[in-house]
Amino acid sequence: MVETKATKRNGHIVMSPFMAHGHLIPFLELARQIHERTSFTITIAITPLNIQYLKSAISSNNDIQLAELPFNSSQHGLPPNIENTEKLPLPDFIKLFHASVSLEAPLRSLVSKITQEEGHPPLCIISDVFHGWVTNVAESFGTGNISFTTCGAYGTLAYISMWSNLPHRKTDTEEFWVPGFPKNYTFQRSQLHKHIRSADGSDAWSRFFIPQIALSMKSKGWICNTVEEIEPLGIQLLRNYLQLPVWTVGPLQPPASLKSSKNRAGKESGISVEACIEWLHLKDQSSVLYISFGSQNTISASQMMALAEGLEESGKSFIWVIRPPFGFDMNAEFLAEWLPKGFEERMEDNKRGILVHKWGPQLEILSHSSTGAFLSHCGWNSVLESLSQGVPIIGWPLAAEQAYNAKMLVEEMGVSVELTRFVETDISKEEVKKVIGVVMDQKEGRGKEMKEKANEIAVLLATTENGQENDSSVRSMDGFVRTILSS
Ligand code: UDP
Repeated sequence: MVETKATKRNGHIVMSPFMAHGHLIPFLELARQIHERTSFTITIAITPLNIQYLKSAISSNNDIQLAELPFNSSQHGLPPNIENTEKLPLPDFIKLFHASVSLEAPLRSLVSKITQEEGHPPLCIISDVFHGWVTNVAESFGTGNISFTTCGAYGTLAYISMWSNLPHRKTDTEEFWVPGFPKNYTFQRSQLHKHIRSADGSDAWSRFFIPQIALSMKSKGWICNTVEEIEPLGIQLLRNYLQLPVWTVGPLQPPASLKSSKNRAGKESGISVEACIEWLHLKDQSSVLYISFGSQNTISASQMMALAEGLEESGKSFIWVIRPPFGFDMNAEFLAEWLPKGFEERMEDNKRGILVHKWGPQLEILSHSSTGAFLSHCGWNSVLESLSQGVPIIGWPLAAEQAYNAKMLVEEMGVSVELTRFVETDISKEEVKKVIGVVMDQKEGRGKEMKEKANEIAVLLATTENGQENDSSVRSMDGFVRTILSS
């Protein structure tokens, strides 16, 4: 515990997360940990429907305050009552990003009210990196903004530098250098999601990300959901690039109380945890492939077909969290025609695999000893959850900074093979079968090496049931608290 209780018993921190589950969960956990270590009041300020979600995810006797910021999605060209990337078609995400800037006025009112009531401004405002506008709000109240990146350091650096510099626009080559990375280090055009690949500084994506990232880079420091020891290169490069303090306080995973997949995301799982565990109990150690593309992504129809065929031919057992393919409503009924004829029944009948529709109990699956590998979109929460259990990853990035995470998992950590990228590529069942074989044959060769490295990282990420206990993350959190108390 940092020695703050006596001196700043009434310290208050306001948090401003971006409206997506993958951001809310780490914010909630950050809030919980700061409160536990300092007794500061923490207020998470977000829109009404997200407040409802947070209320459903946390117990009623918790100490985190929730403040509603009024928001009307229809005024921003969004469908009515949409306040989160969940249920939003992917092409409409950009509208939600732009709409998030409208939260500035209600956040100002909230901070003004707190300042009047308490006689001084909050100690700081912790805002999502996408909410760069908070830097201006904090400054006008004489307090500091701290940016929080829910991603890892390497992925964050690649993401913010790509948007700030658009390095791929300055060359015709497939490979190019990204400012912030060593000079001999290259990224590939195919690692760019189509929005940034075609960005020219004036399109809707550039108009949001370039200024918001620039403002976040003017904040007093950054908090990063990672652990110093697992990605030393990324952290060192991010610090050099930002020229700001970067506190690494990860892994911010949901506390035990939120681990039941039902209340954790306010979502009903497509299978009960018990049925899933019972099925996994039937399987040998490390023999099952878990497949999921996160909370808001899916693959194309032709890719889905090839994945199913390759999976069947690989002979491996699997649990696949499946949603309608790209271009269809992700929340609609799943049609049998999207898979090879009779696939689901065949897999079920011979106990080879289960298809879990829409949402699965990911943490429970990854922590079962029968799970041998994770075919993942490489969202940062999924990466941390997998590596915390020593489970190697088959990468298939689909959006955001995921392709940069996938690169780090392969090149820096040695815990992954990348199968393909994004929804536009063609994959064959042969490639699927081959990659699954390489990663899941863990008795020798590359599969064995990846498993060993994943186990080493699991040790570095180990947390207690009550939260983070990594020495470096605890020190970093204390450093953050000291900084906001002294400024
Ligand atoms: N998740 C889950 N069940 C699913 C899909 C996702 O529990 O079927 C959880 C997963 O454990 C992770 C989060 O949702 O905590 C997804 O976050 P991530 O950063 O991996 O990806 P995103 O959804 O933000 O793209």
